[in-house]
Amino acid sequence: MKQDKSIALMKRSKEMIPAGVNSPVRAYLSVGGNPPFISKAKGASITDVDGNTYIDYVASWGPMILGHAHPKVVEAVCAAAKNGTSYGAPTPLEVEMAEEIISNVPSMDWVRMVSSGTEATMSALRLARGHTARSKIIKFEGCYHGHVDSLLVKAGSGGMTFGTPDSAGVPEGLARETLIATYNDLASVAALFETYPNQIAAVIVEPIAGNMGMIPPVEGFLEGLRTLTKKGGALLIFDEVITGFRVGLSGAQGLYGIDPDLTCLGKIIGGGLPVGAFGGKKEIMESIAPLGPVYQAGTLSGNPLAVTAGLTTLRLLREEGVYDALEEKGAYLAGGIREAFSAAGISVQSHRVGSMACNFFTDQPVVDYKSAKTCDTELFSRYFTGLLENGVYIAPSQFETGFVSVAHTREDLDKTIERVAKVARKLR
Ligand SMILES: *Cc1c(COP(=O)(O)O)cnc(C)c1O
Repeated sequence: MKQDKSIALMKRSKEMIPAGVNSPVRAYLSVGGNPPFISKAKGASITDVDGNTYIDYVASWGPMILGHAHPKVVEAVCAAAKNGTSYGAPTPLEVEMAEEIISNVPSMDWVRMVSSGTEATMSALRLARGHTARSKIIKFEGCYHGHVDSLLVKAGSGGMTFGTPDSAGVPEGLARETLIATYNDLASVAALFETYPNQIAAVIVEPIAGNMGMIPPVEGFLEGLRTLTKKGGALLIFDEVITGFRVGLSGAQGLYGIDPDLTCLGKIIGGGLPVGAFGGKKEIMESIAPLGPVYQAGTLSGNPLAVTAGLTTLRLLREEGVYDALEEKGAYLAGGIREAFSAAGISVQSHRVGSMACNFFTDQPVVDYKSAKTCDTELFSRYFTGLLENGVYIAPSQFETGFVSVAHTREDLDKTIERVAKVARKLR
């Protein structure tokens, strides 16, 4: 694989940008090698500056569910740009976007647009704390909700109840307000409610965990969270930044039939431009400024260009059969990959929900952070590098989710399965 130009760009970039990248996972530090610098993308494929083309399963970490540079999205964004790219004033597009989101996600009576998933979770947390007049929150070890101070916290060993900062720069005092529970383990949540009565503002959860690899909720887990939060007077926040419009038009809450108090969205609703949103029950959302005491604002919130990309994407997703096709493609690919691993004699745990999937390199069942950590990450790195060299682009970490898009053809999937089989044979 030719990489001269990418290597030269990385060298230049490292002189100015920490590790040469504007988001850490892009640096390939855990898998080794030089990340390809991407120059263009179309449909299911992306091309780097050295002319290598890859079948893409990163999808910009989730947003590109229609594939890259969808003609209708590109056309709409170009047309919108001609009308000016930002006004800092209300626009009709925002009204249409709010209608589009609310009509698809029944738990959301009201919504507010922001510019990233991080902003959505940060705002939802502040709202939950302001609305309940409580300060503690519960999050799950291994769940990622953006780089919000309060949420960059996970447990130390042994089911520690006080949070310790995962990131330098998060004050201890703030980290202490974040309580850590174990994903798929209701007893760990119940214990925290018992220890901190009337102090917990909210439980925030990825309803399908997508940031410690992909781990679906076990039966009863999400229902149990709904029951425990109601009983404890806390809000239930679903972080559907990945799952929103990914596993269906009404997200994971629609798939599992749960009614959260607040929902965070991002990724897909921006159609590849920077967008996030948070919303939920009207009586909670009324606490947001200027109606209520919880401040929240944004110069570029509801930006016409970004909202146009998102709105066009959501309308295309509403067309007949889109999610059935995604399910079918996801099942076909996952089935083929499972067979390839099995033929090569390699133990993996294959997880899939619709068009989200992940293969854990371990022979243990994976249900939470601790079991995810049993993976052989060295083996994963060799797998990753093998795929990259064979023109298949997956996330450079064992602990991420792969995404199939509407644009992946049967031919793309067959080629992928063939290349996985070739790489898997050499792993042993
Ligand atoms: C990506 C992600 C975020 C953060 O979104 P950004 O747009 O990167 O700020 C939050 N929550 C989940 C579940 C995510 O996957």
